[in-house]
Amino acid sequence: MLDTAALNNLLAQPQKIVITTHHKPDGDAMGSSLGLYNYLIQQGHHTTVIAPTDYPDFLSWMPGNEEVIIYTEKTAQSATLIADADIIFCLDFNNLSRINEMGELVRAATAYKIMIDHHLEPEDFDDYRHWDINACAAAQLVYSFIVDILDNKKLINKDVATCLYTGIMTDSASFRLPNTTSAVHRVVADLIDTGAPNSRIHELVYNSASENRLRFLGHCLSNCLEVLPEFNTAIITVNKHDLEKYDVNTGDTEGIVNYALSIASIRLAAFIVERNDKVKLSLRSKGDFPANEICKLYFSGGGHRNAAGGQSTASLQEVVNQFKLILPEYKKLLIQ
Ligand code: 5GP
Ligand code: MN
Repeated sequence: MLDTAALNNLLAQPQKIVITTHHKPDGDAMGSSLGLYNYLIQQGHHTTVIAPTDYPDFLSWMPGNEEVIIYTEKTAQSATLIADADIIFCLDFNNLSRINEMGELVRAATAYKIMIDHHLEPEDFDDYRHWDINACAAAQLVYSFIVDILDNKKLINKDVATCLYTGIMTDSASFRLPNTTSAVHRVVADLIDTGAPNSRIHELVYNSASENRLRFLGHCLSNCLEVLPEFNTAIITVNKHDLEKYDVNTGDTEGIVNYALSIASIRLAAFIVERNDKVKLSLRSKGDFPANEICKLYFSGGGHRNAAGGQSTASLQEVVNQFKLILPEYKKLLIQ
């Protein structure tokens, strides 16, 4: 275990550092990782961000992106970096299963492991933990890690601010979710003052879709959406054939579930998609409906109350049926 003083001592000398984040990285995963990266390189640490898998183009513009290593593309190099590291930062996840095969490499590594995260129920693999489930994004926690724990606000430069802004913006659904407190807005204001080009970041993330992605969205809404008014639930189901037809790439399905949730009466929305080797579920809910409970109990997953995910090896139709069979159990919560 490390305490804060020992951590500060450790970081006072250049170290070999690996930063990693969950597989299929989202805006917060990459924003928090590259935000911390751009901070650490200013202090002479040899720092590498390793993403377990690839991530979408609309996240591939942040400062430091060219230096990111993707584990599935450079497995041997990644394994060496992890084994040789003095410190491994684990950002935006708290269970080693979230980084696929990298999990066992990180577990076996001799490095100090530092978790910066906002998900429920952390696994006990770390030596230092900056963890708060009330934070709206891991990027918000990287900000407080630098400012409060390391007492180094002056090193939040334009690059750090740009990445952290992206993480907070995407994980708070553009400052919309209930955990976007006034304190979050103060952090964001500070990031803008430090140079985060806020309007440009919105453009880069949200207005950079391909024509295919828009047509695929239209297909999902016209042909794949099922509304179950008796449960205030909406389901979008997408099969493998549709993914091929619309040439759906990493990240193209991101956010589509929110359209289902945007129907006034809907309290629970599901996006259920047939991937190569499994069926993946993304659930979103309004208010206090526990989407994460359904993912945890039935679909080997988890997440936050209002945004959770899981998977199954059953067929697409079986998963949809299973999901529908669960709803009566939650009827009271869904129709209140
Ligand atoms: P998404 O629907 O965007 O894939 O995931 C939404 C949230 O659910 C993520 O931020 C993550 O916290 C959580 N999540 C998604 N898939 C899984 C999973 O397989 N296991 C766990 N524990 N959480 C997940
Ligand atoms: Mn996050």
